Amino acid sequence: MWHYVDARAAVRDALRLSQAMTLKSAVAGLPLGGGKGVIMAPDPAAPARNRHRGRRADALRDFGDTVEQLGGSYITAEDVGTSSRDMQLIASATSHVSGLSRRHGGSGDPSPWTALGVETAIRVSCEHVFGTPSLERRTIAISGLGNVGGRVATACAKAGATLLVTDIDPRKRALAESLSARWVQPGDALTAPVDVFAPCALGGLLDHESVMRLGAPIVVGAANNQLADDGVADLLAQRGVLWAPDFVVNAGGIINISVELEPGGYDAGRAGRLVRGIGETLRRIVDDAAARGVPPLDAALVLARQRLAEAGSPAPRAFVRARPREQPPAGASHHRP
Ligand code: NAD
Repeated sequence: MWHYVDARAAVRDALRLSQAMTLKSAVAGLPLGGGKGVIMAPDPAAPARNRHRGRRADALRDFGDTVEQLGGSYITAEDVGTSSRDMQLIASATSHVSGLSRRHGGSGDPSPWTALGVETAIRVSCEHVFGTPSLERRTIAISGLGNVGGRVATACAKAGATLLVTDIDPRKRALAESLSARWVQPGDALTAPVDVFAPCALGGLLDHESVMRLGAPIVVGAANNQLADDGVADLLAQRGVLWAPDFVVNAGGIINISVELEPGGYDAGRAGRLVRGIGETLRRIVDDAAARGVPPLDAALVLARQRLAEAGSPAPRAFVRARPREQPPAGASHHRP
């Protein structure tokens, strides 16, 4: 649920996010396709009568009715702007909803699992660039201290990393203080001279301009659709920055949900093992990319296409990139601005 300037922007976002879900499920080897629903929230600056709680509940129930009409070909789950409680409300209109609370027979909030996958991916990226997965004394900048980013920050601090954090919501300062993290303005996290930049807010942060100001040799985070366009993956590689593809890194939530959908029912232990498998998938992708001299995005798309072909589903045209130029191995030539 998000505020969009108009319906066209909401549809565009739903299409981009559903493409990311398809890639995510394919790369993670899940027996799922990809879909995404968006709910247009009222403008936070709109008159209060447009924002009262009843209207929000009505929108969630209407969304549930729409999901029900799809007859099970689309199963909804929580994401930005929604919670397990909201899923419970949607469940009053449809049974095609996942991520319900454990008390209601679901697998609960997917965010801790997404955060576990992001932490695992940060370790694998550090191993690739610095030769060790240890986060002891690593410097990590995290943008967005929400359901996922807050947990990633807590896990990294516990593992001995020094944190620099930001959020547009000043209430998140309390978490920063409890982790002894340095608080910076949103624009400054991207340029900070740290080991890892973890974008955990919204997408589109990395474009041809912002990548030139990046301060870290590694970008790995939870945010969906981090690249403004695929050409940014080439620019990142040219700058010697290892960008771990978002749809590989942030698959923990959907992996957990896939366990909920298995015939044997939900098993948290199995979910944990599968989510940690993101590390092995990412290792395979970055090694393949380095060996072929292409950005990790290309190696990840090859894996997605392969998995879709194995499932008998042709990959959409958007999953095929023009062959990029040969690149130096990621991490080889990074220089800090
Ligand atoms: P959330 O809404 O709980 O947290 C997002 C946080 O980012 C909020 O605290 C918000 O104030 C902050 N933020 C927004 N714009 C910002 C900006 N410009 N600079 C700094 N902070 C900003 O969302 P979440 O569930 O933590 O998800 C974070 C990202 O991860 C999203 O892109 C989401 O699509 C993606 N993701 C989430 C999950 C999941 O399980 N929740 C799974 C896969 C991907």
